[in-house]
Amino acid sequence: MINLFKFLNNVLILGKVQKYTKIISYKCETMSLREESTDITTNTWEPLHQIEDHLYLGNWHSATDQQILATHKIRRVLTITDTPIPDWKRHTNIEYFHIKLNDMPEEDLLSHFEVTRNVIADGQTNGHNVLVHCHAGISRSSTVVTAYLMNKYDKPFVEALDMVRIKRPFISPNIGFRDQLRLYEEMGNQLNAKNKRYRRFVYDRMLADSNVEHYWTQLDKYFKRRDYIESLVKLDASSVGRQYQCLKCNQLICQEIHVIENLQLIDSYVNNNNDKVAKSCGNIYIEPQKWMLPLNIGDQHLNCQKCGQVLGAYNLSNGSKQLCNCLKHTDITGYQFMIEKNCFKII
Ligand SMILES: [Zn+2]
Ligand SMILES: [Zn+2]
Repeated sequence: MINLFKFLNNVLILGKVQKYTKIISYKCETMSLREESTDITTNTWEPLHQIEDHLYLGNWHSATDQQILATHKIRRVLTITDTPIPDWKRHTNIEYFHIKLNDMPEEDLLSHFEVTRNVIADGQTNGHNVLVHCHAGISRSSTVVTAYLMNKYDKPFVEALDMVRIKRPFISPNIGFRDQLRLYEEMGNQLNAKNKRYRRFVYDRMLADSNVEHYWTQLDKYFKRRDYIESLVKLDASSVGRQYQCLKCNQLICQEIHVIENLQLIDSYVNNNNDKVAKSCGNIYIEPQKWMLPLNIGDQHLNCQKCGQVLGAYNLSNGSKQLCNCLKHTDITGYQFMIEKNCFKII
């Protein structure tokens, strides 16, 4: 049995909470043939399938049809759609949970996997039949069930996907969700805030394309989500890495874990004089830090909170304009927080 308070608290920071009791509201790779093998001869409107004991996967119809719910003795419904099941279609003996999310590759479904795991595991543990569903029972819900099986049985993504597909042949997580399931596998089938690819994923999803007019709301959501994923793991000194300090006064700017990995800067190249030249301009881009607040749209200097020295700059605008003119940091867009190379030291 999970701690309900802790569980709901986690849900609150992940997304919107709808006005219901006990209801949660809230790059492309080549796919292997095995991942793509979908049985198109099956009737894709079959409402639901049993995946294992006490776990069903289905579409919107399966979650709203009284006869289907009664036949399969469903006691818990986990909905992953844009809108929740309306009140008039609900039953008093069923617990409803809702995650507000569209079937779009850029949606962050990954960060909900701990919550969805708890909803399913708690139902199964109590012998209650759980129905996980989305609109068609093909992409969002199959992603959630696949992640659940990966975690429960310590299976790689492809094997867990097969376990679901054997029961419901036409499932097909969208391409973004497949990448998220691969990242989940890379993290050991759990959310791991120590993983820099996952941190970059969260940053990109929430800040790369944000609108400047809503920057405060967006930053607030970002900090809450980052706090949430960090709460799931023990971030000790070894995992946060070295300290980045103000060169003038030693004030802490950030830790190594906050430095955004820039894939284009990893390699070096050889110039005309046969010298090996690092591609980096020396400036670093970091995840926003709470000490930087409040940020003003007009003032783009980032000053040390202790000595006031200019450390770098920030850019809250939506677009690809870079804060440094090296023309190398081109994959960092949207919100940018840059520390100049001559302003920090690494301890
Ligand atoms: Zn300073
Ligand atoms: Zn640069």
